[in-house]
Amino acid sequence: MEIKSLYREIVNEHNLYPGHKYDLENPTMVLQGINPSCGDDINLQLRIEDDIITDASFNGSGCAISQASADMMIDLIIGKRKEEALRLAETFMGMIKGTATAGQIESLEEAAALQDISHMPARVKCAVLGWRTMRQMLEEINK
Ligand code: ZN
Repeated sequence: MEIKSLYREIVNEHNLYPGHKYDLENPTMVLQGINPSCGDDINLQLRIEDDIITDASFNGSGCAISQASADMMIDLIIGKRKEEALRLAETFMGMIKGTATAGQIESLEEAAALQDISHMPARVKCAVLGWRTMRQMLEEINK
């Protein structure tokens, strides 16, 4: 299978069968993220205990890329410390900008499937929506 179609497959799977698209029972933080240029609208929900993201989910609607990206991100951040999740968000942004190293991109696991988005400027905001929203939430804690 060609690499690119494998990536497309991963995005499709997460869009059609998201593992984390539901309302969390007792989130400690909830934030809505909107990408008006595409109409993507997600409601990101985190449960943070002792600086660790013990559970996370999202709900909302939008294009396949926005939904799949949020789902893949949540796969990655559950069980991580807040600082690690922020570092992964930086890496994801770096991957989109083309500044992340291959090793860094590897740490994103399935979310690395979105690296070709950097060549599709119109879809970048879709891909980063979940990550941007998470970063905003986690930075909020330190205020
Ligand atoms: Zn979109």
